[in-house]
Amino acid sequence: MAALKPLIAGNWKMFGRQADLSEIPVLAERVGEAAKSIDVLICPPAPMLAIAAWRAKDTPLLIGAQDCSAAALDSPRTGDVSAAMLADAGARYVIVGHSERRTIFGETDALVRAKAEAALTAGLTPIVCVGETQGERTAGRVEEVICRQVGESIPQTRGPLVIAYEPVWCIGGAATPTPSQITQVHSFIRETLAGRGGDTRILYGGSVNPGNAGEIFGAPGVDGALVGRASLKADDFSAIILAHPAAS
Ligand code: PEP
Repeated sequence: MAALKPLIAGNWKMFGRQADLSEIPVLAERVGEAAKSIDVLICPPAPMLAIAAWRAKDTPLLIGAQDCSAAALDSPRTGDVSAAMLADAGARYVIVGHSERRTIFGETDALVRAKAEAALTAGLTPIVCVGETQGERTAGRVEEVICRQVGESIPQTRGPLVIAYEPVWCIGGAATPTPSQITQVHSFIRETLAGRGGDTRILYGGSVNPGNAGEIFGAPGVDGALVGRASLKADDFSAIILAHPAAS
């Protein structure tokens, strides 16, 4: 299979203010050349999306959202934000099924799938997150969990798709799996997707930082990364992006 264009996405989670969007032009300046061969995406909190998109205009950087409503049509859903609204604000991608949403907000695979379908309907590319907890890994249930999450969370409608493998035990901590553990799960996800377009990119996410990014990007089957904390500042995020072999 031909190598897929890498995608390196920053998930700002519920951090930052409008003033922090000044990181966008700084990042564009540092990674502008690399962004020709790597898709570089920033997913700020929803209230900052339109301004982020405006700041990224005329740069190669892409803007995405962190979640969307499962309802594709405009409807009376107080507090919800539709994928069409995110697209209207300038988003190109949307993260769905992040483990924080699955755990804190009780999102099920079925809900994540509905959100991914709504994203496709609005012309957005869904980034569907999957990953096992420490307990599930210790119990030898990694493949069972990943198989269920991939099988039941990804959209049934064909369209552009990204999967982020984010082991829950690695998010926001210091731990990362070994490159061979990452490759093992990515290969398993690729097998699980069999029959679906080979153009689905599979990202690794969980404590990626400037110090470990090169090793992670070197692991076979890794098509990029989903980065949390280290994406908030252009210094760290640019160092991660420039550690990708496609950047040079
Ligand atoms: C994330 O939450 O998507 C993530 C990868 O977080 P961190 O990089 O901070 O572990």
